[in-house]
Amino acid sequence: MKMTNKDDISTIVRRAVLQCLAANPSQQSAAVEPLEIFHSSEANALKEEILRVGRKLWERQYVDGNGGNISVRVSPQYVLCTPTLCSKADLSLEDFSLVDLDNEKICGDRPQTSEILLHLEIYKAVPAAKAVIHCHPPYATAHAVAGVVPQGNLLPEQEVFIGPVALAPYETPGTIAFAKTVLPYVKDHNTILLANHGIVCWADTVTHAEWYVEVVDTYCKTVMIASQLRPKLNGIPPGKIADLLAIKKKLGLPDPRLKSSSEATETGHAHAVEEQPKPASIRQPASYEIDELVSRLTVEVGAFFDGTK
Ligand SMILES: [Zn+2]
Repeated sequence: MKMTNKDDISTIVRRAVLQCLAANPSQQSAAVEPLEIFHSSEANALKEEILRVGRKLWERQYVDGNGGNISVRVSPQYVLCTPTLCSKADLSLEDFSLVDLDNEKICGDRPQTSEILLHLEIYKAVPAAKAVIHCHPPYATAHAVAGVVPQGNLLPEQEVFIGPVALAPYETPGTIAFAKTVLPYVKDHNTILLANHGIVCWADTVTHAEWYVEVVDTYCKTVMIASQLRPKLNGIPPGKIADLLAIKKKLGLPDPRLKSSSEATETGHAHAVEEQPKPASIRQPASYEIDELVSRLTVEVGAFFDGTK
């Protein structure tokens, strides 16, 4: 049978090449070109998610002026983040930057948020952290200003998703000293009050990080109102807290109460270690390299069937 239609051959060759690449998922996380990552469909979906979350933060009055910032890890070494000096209600797809873990900007037209240093310290300390949100929700920030950690064990949702809230000391925003204030707490706490400033939350997705912002701010508000009704609040019975911690453990969420010597390997830490990025030993080819390979193979296959080879 003679097969000389170059388009048909090219289609078959391309399918075969892409199937070979897809069949080896261990190579998928290898060092793909940053520009490709920045414009990939996965990154674009994450940018859309950040736009939605930015608007929710603004509508709930958790970000003021150009305050607050959002980032997400798109590969072991690269992070997408919001720009400096932009209201989270006005973000557009063109506003994002791609930075590496050393805060080198790789792609994007706008300067990255100055608080990216805080986000990067969290990503480096907690491999399970895939998304970070910093913002200024009023009730949680009021606690951070007063230097008061809200009483715990009052609402199941708070205990399951957040648990004990940490309070990091004040440092000048945007500095590396500020970024490092969270390091003593960030492995055991997904939500940290930042003294005289605001809060920071990390999670497995941007959407979940925003949920934690909502949960902690509502919790702080509820505790403030309840404390006006009665100074001494009734807690969840101590015997029932174990039930909530069991749910939390199942969800893989961090909590200092789960960190006993026998359990240490079962908490989010062990989870985080498992998720350590593998070294990029084999590079994923760029799309232009795939195009070149397909066109070379197409010529060779065509020549073979034409009998010229
Ligand atoms: Zn801030």
